[in-house]
Amino acid sequence: MNAPRHAIATVFDPVFLQHVAPISHPERPDRLAAVVQHLQETGLWERLKFLPARPATFEELRAAHDPLYVERTVDRLSLRRTGYLDMGDTFFSPGTKDAALAAAGGSVDVSLAVWRGEVPSGVALVRPPGHHADRDTAMGFCVFNNAAIAAHALLAAGARKVAILDFDVHHGNGTQDIFYGDPRVLYLSMHQSPLYPGTGASEEIGDGDGLGCTANLPLAPYCDDVDWLAGLERLLLPLVRAFSPEILLVSGGFDAHHLDTISTQQVTDAGYAAIAQRIVASADAVCAGKVVMLLEGGYHLEGLAAGVASFLRQLESRSDDPVLKPSVEARHTTLASINAALTRLLSFWPDFANRGPADQLGRHEPRPGDDYFL
Ligand SMILES: [Zn+2]
Repeated sequence: MNAPRHAIATVFDPVFLQHVAPISHPERPDRLAAVVQHLQETGLWERLKFLPARPATFEELRAAHDPLYVERTVDRLSLRRTGYLDMGDTFFSPGTKDAALAAAGGSVDVSLAVWRGEVPSGVALVRPPGHHADRDTAMGFCVFNNAAIAAHALLAAGARKVAILDFDVHHGNGTQDIFYGDPRVLYLSMHQSPLYPGTGASEEIGDGDGLGCTANLPLAPYCDDVDWLAGLERLLLPLVRAFSPEILLVSGGFDAHHLDTISTQQVTDAGYAAIAQRIVASADAVCAGKVVMLLEGGYHLEGLAAGVASFLRQLESRSDDPVLKPSVEARHTTLASINAALTRLLSFWPDFANRGPADQLGRHEPRPGDDYFL
């Protein structure tokens, strides 16, 4: 009620609505328009602290992407035509160049502002999304990988450790690819499997110097709030704590919503509020609350708008009270998937192994039946 509200640095620009598919497409300007309208109607909008969405520089783009890919893509978008960058998923229109460059540049600036302590937290309300774009390929509606470009900018500015937590219903193959051998960036994803793009098995844990710095939790179709919270509380957030990043970037996709037809997941509005609460509380405990949410997917307009609003409310209120404490256990396939990931990752994270994962966040006591922990 009278709790202090924490300012949220925000990137939004009407240019993001100028990226338009040639034919009907789920990744449409209406998505972001619905988010803005909902934030305005709920009064959240007027409390946001807006940063300009300036275009990313070539240097910033080339930190995450192959230089030839950057050059070819920018040249192609500069023609201001309409078409596809891949086999029919990733469209472009005359406004795409400005939108894609501003999405990446805005993601960089909001992340740097939070990392430098200029503002407690941030959110990038951008299009096109980014997490499927890998080092040299546009795919899955994504042109440039906003989260990866932001993470590289943080490293270039002096950050030593950055974590990226991706709760979009699809695996962020692009972000994983870009940091697969990089121990400075922890990439964590929970996603439906099987589903596009087909990557993100629990066996994928990084390679070379980056071994143990990628974690994947594939979830079976029809998983619900309980499963998503179990994955967060028992695997992803304890790993964030063990890694101890200086800032947490969140690839925020809201397409596991039960009304979103792009997946068969069953996450409710309350579930997304709980996911946001757990993530923000974890960032408070681990990295002085420095968290930036970068918009990825989410194709049911009301579900997307409500999810983004929930995240912003958690960033503002920083509530310790767990929203939605499940009274039932996650399904067997989810627990098995958590254990499969833990089996491969624990040797890299001794700090994780010293504690029960349920009490890592200090949010609730371990319960009888918490025997999922190996
Ligand atoms: Zn998605």
